[in-house]
Amino acid sequence: MARLIKGIDTKLIHAGEPDPLIFGAVTMPIFQSSTFAYEGQTSYHDLRYIRLSNTPNHSALHLKLAALENADAALVAGSGMAAISATLFTILAGGGHLLAQDCVYGGTHDLFLEEFPAYGMAVDFVDADAPATWRESLRPNTRAIYVESISNPLMQVNDLQAAVDFAAEHGLVSIIDNTFASPINFRPAEIGFDLSVHSGTKYLNGHTDIVAGAVIGRAGLVERVTHTLNHLGGILDPHACFLLNRGIKTLGVRVRHQNESALKLARWLEQQQDVSRVNYPGLESHTNHLRACELFDGFGGVLSFELVGGQPAADRFIDRVTIPISAPSLGGVETLITRPATTSHSGMSPSDRARAGISDGLIRLSVGLESSDDLLEDFELALRH
Ligand code: PLP
Repeated sequence: MARLIKGIDTKLIHAGEPDPLIFGAVTMPIFQSSTFAYEGQTSYHDLRYIRLSNTPNHSALHLKLAALENADAALVAGSGMAAISATLFTILAGGGHLLAQDCVYGGTHDLFLEEFPAYGMAVDFVDADAPATWRESLRPNTRAIYVESISNPLMQVNDLQAAVDFAAEHGLVSIIDNTFASPINFRPAEIGFDLSVHSGTKYLNGHTDIVAGAVIGRAGLVERVTHTLNHLGGILDPHACFLLNRGIKTLGVRVRHQNESALKLARWLEQQQDVSRVNYPGLESHTNHLRACELFDGFGGVLSFELVGGQPAADRFIDRVTIPISAPSLGGVETLITRPATTSHSGMSPSDRARAGISDGLIRLSVGLESSDDLLEDFELALRH
C-alpha cells in the first residue's frame, strides 16, 4: 500500500522517496552515474543524463519540493541564481519585459540590470506595496511580475495577493522568490503564484555547505524552464542533490526553531535603549505585521536592526558578539551577522541605499539553531560594554 503522506512534516521525510526502498536502503542512495542505459526515449530531454536533471536523485527532489509547496512540479538547479536566471530567460525569451519589486536580492538586481539588456529583455521596478501604480509600467511586451515573499534587508512583506491578481488580470506569469519564508512559512501556489524560486543554499539545505536552487510551480512552466536549464547547463550534481534532500528533511524543526528565536530576539532588541529600530514582520510594530499574519505560518529567521550610534556602533557590536559569525548568506544552522551596506547591498550606490531605507548602520541577523538564551546574553554583553 502506498505511504500515507499528508502533513508537511511527513512530506519532508517521505515525499518523492523511493517506494519500495532500493535494496532496503532507508536513505536514498546517490546515483553517481553521468549517463544511464538508453531505454527507447524519443525526446532529447528524456534521455537519462545528469545535465538533464533526471537522475533518481533529481526526480526524488522534484517530487518532494512540489509536494512541499502544494504545487504541480519542481526543478532543482545549481544555485539560486541558476534557478532565477533559467526561469526569467524562459519567460522573457525573445524580448520580454518584467515588472519587479524595487528592492530585490542584489544578485537578482544585477542580473536584471547587467545581463537583461544584452539579451533584449527589460525590467521596470515598481513599488510592490502600491498595486495601483503598477498599471502605468505595463508595456505590450510585459510578460511577468516578480516579487519576494520577504524583502531583504528591511523584511517587508509586500502585497503578494495583489501581484497574483494583477498577473491574472493582465495575462502575466506571477513569480515569487520564496527563499526567506521557505515552504514551512509560506506556500506561494496556495495563493495562486505560477512559479516560486528558491536559493536552496539557504533554508532548504540549511547547513551552509552547498549552493543550490529550485523552481516550483505549474507543470507546463516548470517543463519549459527545465528545457532552458538543460541547454544552459547550470544543474545540481547528484551528490549535492543528496545533501539538499538530507537538509530538507529537517526543514520543519529548523525553521520553526528559527521563527521562535528570531521573534524572541526581535522583541528583546525592540526594548533596548541602544536600539533605534527593529525590522521583523513578527513584531506588532512592523508595518506589514497584519499581512504577514494572514499569509504566513511563521515570520522567518532573519531580522535587521539599527543601533543609536549608527555605523560605528554597528561595527563595534558585530566585533563584540561571540556567537554570530560575520558572514553573508542566511538560513543555516549558524547565526550569521552582516552589515548589508558592506555585503548584500554593497553593489547599490549610497544614495540608492538611502532611498531604499538601508542605512550604513543597519545590521542583518540570520538566526541559527543556537540557544536563544545564549544569543540574548551575547547581545546584552555586546551592547553594554
Ligand atoms: N534569492 C535570495 C533571496 C537570496 O538571498 C539569494 C542569495 O543570497 C539568492 C536568491 C541567490 O541564491 P544563490 O546564492 O544560491 O545563487
